[in-house]
Amino acid sequence: MINFNIPPFTGKEIEYMKEAVNNQKICGDGPFTKKCNEWIEEKTKTTKCLLTTSCTHATELAALLADIKEGDEVIMPSYTFVSTADAFVLRGAKVVFVDVRPDTMNIDETLIEDAVTERTKVIAPVHYAGVGCEMDTIMDIARRHHLMVVEDAAQGIMSTYKGKALGTFGEFGCFSFHETKNFSMGEGGALLIRDEKYIENAEIFREKGTDRSKYYRGQVDKYRWQNYGSSYLPSDMNAAYLYAQLQLADEITQTRMDRWNEYLELLTPLAEEGRIELPYIPAHCEHNAHMFYIKTKDMEERSRLISFLMDRGVWSVFHYVPLHSAPAGLKFGRFHGEDKYTTKESERLLRLPMFYTLTADQVEYITEQVKAFYHA
Ligand SMILES: *Cc1c(COP(=O)(O)O)cnc(C)c1O
Repeated sequence: MINFNIPPFTGKEIEYMKEAVNNQKICGDGPFTKKCNEWIEEKTKTTKCLLTTSCTHATELAALLADIKEGDEVIMPSYTFVSTADAFVLRGAKVVFVDVRPDTMNIDETLIEDAVTERTKVIAPVHYAGVGCEMDTIMDIARRHHLMVVEDAAQGIMSTYKGKALGTFGEFGCFSFHETKNFSMGEGGALLIRDEKYIENAEIFREKGTDRSKYYRGQVDKYRWQNYGSSYLPSDMNAAYLYAQLQLADEITQTRMDRWNEYLELLTPLAEEGRIELPYIPAHCEHNAHMFYIKTKDMEERSRLISFLMDRGVWSVFHYVPLHSAPAGLKFGRFHGEDKYTTKESERLLRLPMFYTLTADQVEYITEQVKAFYHA
């Protein structure tokens, strides 16, 4: 059986976790958390990175920092994971869903401006499959309408748009280190902060509303309750696990990219016959091989292909049920404009196995099974 995902593991994780234990510093913001923050700051060239307990929590921090209030509106695609919406809905926001582009499955940037109202506060683009949204257009709309941008870059670490790291365009960017992502700490994430002016509040919200971060740096003699907040610090043991993978980030990404390109090459004949569609990467986007997906004719064909592959030992999966059609989406959001692609495309997208230890032989085997399905 070829699993859909195997969490990344390099071998050094356990050694670093032991070191964290020996440091007798296993709570948050220990030496490994600092190493991870610095690594991400250097790699992405962002102003500040704060490791968090998840990407969902990083987005909650962003919603707190954006000062989202009851009735504010946040524009996002409906084709995304629930967390993009949850973080804002928790603060009382209404979600305004906009259609996706069928080529990248990212928010259609040409439809955003029409969805802006006087209540709009944030645009939350999602970089699907680690492929950048049209950030030039999105940042221009945000500037002209005085909106903030929170990038859901959960899948986007190591990816760039016109040479600039995803997650560094908007006021805030959010990474995920869930076990299904390119680099993992089990559960975890990071908040990227573009402007220095947000750092102090970010540290306070993340540390239960206190200025403990300042206290640790010796900037105040005791720490006190400053504001509302929560606890968004991961244990340094988890950060140690992640750090081992960040150190090998280039190698992990290159290996994934090799498998991704093999998929593309081996499936191109099927696409040329018009049987399936393949992912599209805009020329100015450098992606991170987070995901390899194909598109079938429709949902019925996709279901048959999933069973066909499962019978042959290949575990393929689909996502997402569009948020606007889900119970909470109906309650907390509305779809602006026409759902031309979101539902239709979501019903025919199928993800093939993609993980660090996937082999070229396995990719060959998987693509042969896909071809067998269409040529039967
Ligand atoms: C994985 C993912 C998340 C959530 O990440 P967690 O770290 O599990 O909270 C959010 N948005 C997208 C697009 C994701 O793929």
